[in-house]
Order: sequence, then structure tokens, then C-alpha cells
Amino acid sequence: MMSTRRNVLIVEDEPAVAGALKRQLEELSCNVEVALSGDTGLSLAQAKPFDLIVLDIMLPGLDGLEVCRRLRTRRAYTPVLMVSARTSEIDRVLGLEMGADDYMTKPYSAAELVARVRSLFRRVDALSEQAGNLRRVLRFGDALTIDPASREVTVRGKPVVLTHKEYDLLLLFAHNPGRVYSRSQLLDAVWGYSHDGYDHAVECHINRLRAKIDRDPSRPKLLLTVWGVGYKLSAVD
Ligand code: CA
Repeated sequence: MMSTRRNVLIVEDEPAVAGALKRQLEELSCNVEVALSGDTGLSLAQAKPFDLIVLDIMLPGLDGLEVCRRLRTRRAYTPVLMVSARTSEIDRVLGLEMGADDYMTKPYSAAELVARVRSLFRRVDALSEQAGNLRRVLRFGDALTIDPASREVTVRGKPVVLTHKEYDLLLLFAHNPGRVYSRSQLLDAVWGYSHDGYDHAVECHINRLRAKIDRDPSRPKLLLTVWGVGYKLSAVD
């Protein structure tokens, strides 16, 4: 079911429990490392990226809650599956909003573990696919290229300089080519507010953007007006 091997860290102070968990996760094609204390777990998690951390709450020294709290102050995001023998501990996790992604009470069945881990991996995959799509360079034939990472826009092979709002407008159109946006939708999405009096601002920006990207702004082929409705980006140049 999983195309790539995932790196999983188990933080669990009972060696027998950790060992069983390790075997179950290895059956899911995971590379598994075990830390028998919170301190070791935290330093391992800080030293290298993991795709998942299975974190026991009751640990000697740094407990699971503290490990999770410290992990969440870091920029890199690692999903955390919290495990506890006591329901009251899980209640505490929920109450404190520790930033764990899922929770499991001991004793749990292998089937439950597998289901939760799979669902966490699916969520992570969906998120990284979304992030990848947002970073992807957008190309419209030879006419237009937008690189969201650098905010560089190229029109017919030549770089063009857009203002902040012009760029945001263009990126919105480019993520949904062919979709018609009304002026108030554009105001909402790009300016973040909707106000009748600002319709002319949208028109103004559209005209300036069109002058920068369309070969003949009086007969636009890229940024089109849909009369009575709004505007859309056509992929045809
Ligand atoms: Ca424990």
C-alpha cells in the first residue's frame, strides 16, 4: 500500500511494548527506530526527520506531553500519534491541545494501530501533494509562465515585473484557468474584503495586468472579460 519506506520513531519505555510496535510497523514497510526515554526520543527527533512519531505519554524523565510540546515549537512538522495506558492521560492531551495528530489508548489491537498509522500517512501525503501543487511552476503554452517559488512571471519568454496585487490576481486566475471570477470574488480573494466602491480598483488592476501580459490589450487573448460576469484566464495565446 505504501510506495516509499517511511521513517518512524517509537518513544516507549517498555521494551516489550516497543518491540511489538516495531514489528507491526515494519510490516507496514516502515524503517523503525526506538527510543526508550523521552530525552532520547526528543534528541533523535531533533537530529533527523521522521514521517511519524509514536509517542507514549508515561515516560521517565521528559514525559510524552513535554516531548510533543517541544516538537511543536519547531518549524519542521512531524505527525505525532500519542499513546497512553490511561484514558485520563488522553483527556489531558486533548484538553491541553498538545498538537498530537491522533491518540490511542493501551491496550490497542494491531488492526487499530495499522488503521491509525495508515490514515495519518494518507493525511500527510494529501498535505504534501497540496503543498507541491502550490509550488509547481504554472505554464500556459509559450505565452505565460509563473513560478510561485520566486514569484517570477515570464510572458512570451520575457520576464515581466508585476506589482504585488497584480501577481496575486494572476496567480489566482492561473490556478483555475477558464474559471470566471466576479469582481467581488476577486476583491475577496486578493484584497481580503468586499466593498462595492472598490469594484473600480479591480478593473484598474485587471487593465494594468492585461497591458503587461496580453500582446494586444485592446483585444485580449489571455485575460478575458466575460461580459456581465467577470474575468477569466484563457490558456490560449
Ligand atoms: Ca510508558
